[in-house]
This record gives sequence, C-alpha cells and structure tokens, in this order.
Amino acid sequence: MSQQNIFYPGALEEKGGRLVQMGNKCRDCGKTFYPAVELCPFCSSEQVEKVPLSPVGTLFSFSVTRVPVGRFKPPIIGGYIDLPEGTRLFGQIRADLKDVRIGMRVKVETGVLWTEKDGMEVLGYYYVPCEAEGGGAE
Ligand SMILES: [Zn+2]
Repeated sequence: MSQQNIFYPGALEEKGGRLVQMGNKCRDCGKTFYPAVELCPFCSSEQVEKVPLSPVGTLFSFSVTRVPVGRFKPPIIGGYIDLPEGTRLFGQIRADLKDVRIGMRVKVETGVLWTEKDGMEVLGYYYVPCEAEGGGAE
C-alpha cells in the first residue's frame, strides 16, 4: 500500500472525498491569498480564515523551462493564474506547449506530482486548459 503526502502542509484539504486547494481570506480587508500564510500580506491582520479557492482561473503569464528541474521533466510550464477572488498564484501548467496562451482559462487539478523511492506519493496541484469557457478559439 502506498503512502501519500501533500507537498506543502495545508495547501490542500480533503473535502467530500477530493482534494481542494485552500487559501486564506482576511477578515479585515477581505482579500484572499495563497499560500495560506497566517498574516495577511495586504494589511498585516492576523484575522485570517481558511477558504477553498476557485477551481477555474485565467492564465496571467507563463514561462517554459527546458531543462529538468528536480523530478520534473521538460518542458516545464510554470504560470501565474488569476482567480476570480483576486488572488494570483503560481502553478505548473500541464498542457501541450502549443496550446498554452496568456489569457486562457485554466482549471486546477490535484494528483500525484511524483513518487519517492520509498513509494511515498507526493500530492499537489497543477492546472490544465479549461475547455468549458473561452480559449480554443482558432
Ligand atoms: Zn488583510
């Protein structure tokens, strides 16, 4: 039986049998941020609460790494995703590079990022193109 571990404690939480990406929302200024640090980066308030993040966002920008990084094989697409709640976060984009465009809709997925030598599966999040809305216009 393989063991599983989340790549960053608290980044994902299990809800209803699936993993959900969790950010923090500030009770004072109302802004949401990720990763979920305990001090609001906008107003320094400590009045923050965990909230699930929107699963669909817009790709603000991205870059491509063409050499292996750790366990990731190139091309590695890293992007900044803007969520409807105003949060911009960094994530890996799993897609064919030719299909990746600034402004495209992407949705978060969770799953195994890599497997350690001892069989431990490391879980995390990544983004994939979202066919449902926009994008795809040729
Ligand atoms: Zn705040």
